[in-house]
Amino acid sequence: MEYVLVSACLLGQAVRYNGGDKRCDDDILQRWLSEGRVVAICPEVAGGLPVPRPAAEIAGGAGGRKVLEGLARVVDSNGRDVSAHFVDGAEHAARLARARGIRVAVLKEGSPSCGSSFSYDGSFARVRVPVPGVTAARLVQDGIAIYSEVQLAQADARLHQLEAVGLRDQGPDARGVVIIYTAHGMYLSRSCALSWRDFQEIWPDFQTSLGPWTVAAVINYLDEEHPDLWPPAQQQVHALEGAETTQHRLSFRS
Ligand code: SF4
Repeated sequence: MEYVLVSACLLGQAVRYNGGDKRCDDDILQRWLSEGRVVAICPEVAGGLPVPRPAAEIAGGAGGRKVLEGLARVVDSNGRDVSAHFVDGAEHAARLARARGIRVAVLKEGSPSCGSSFSYDGSFARVRVPVPGVTAARLVQDGIAIYSEVQLAQADARLHQLEAVGLRDQGPDARGVVIIYTAHGMYLSRSCALSWRDFQEIWPDFQTSLGPWTVAAVINYLDEEHPDLWPPAQQQVHALEGAETTQHRLSFRS
């Protein structure tokens, strides 16, 4: 599965400088949450800043890349240089993204950390400049595709494109594996062409599905989220791969 890094304030977490959030109820984001693919980050909190905190802007509208290079500063509304916190937070986000293999991020627009197409010019007069914040600039350096909260459809398309390429790269016979949750158990299915309506016909108590994902992604997910599987996730997924059937009921330690 392709994970997606998302600004914590868009997820309703009260981490903004003023103690509030910027909760986004878009259906795409809600679906990502139900698929378990969202990884939350607030770079400013990760960088050691408190909630609430004074508003901050990048001095001179220089943009996040210059801050990373040590050529510009982030200054709060009291005149305090908070650049080190912003750079630490950006590095934390980059490490998190690397650890989860993240290639797509949706970040809150306009923030001195998360802004992707604009930030503010350092005058605290709401003057926009077309340069990214510190974390957005850092993630771009690692090749991560950055989108704002008004570009969720584009981000979703990119995720599906990456997943389709991942399956294709496994070879012409490779098919994705879908994880099925029902009220009475969990299943793996290789029938990735099926829709949720088809799943409901097979499993009347169908609840939700994840995938199709690569075999490696399914094993990773099951190891993390269901460590009580027995035999271990890897054996169960490979049992499905070698079987004639297209479904496998997952078993757990009793
Ligand atoms: S740093 Fe990013 S995640 Fe944190 S409050 Fe600001 S915009 Fe939201």
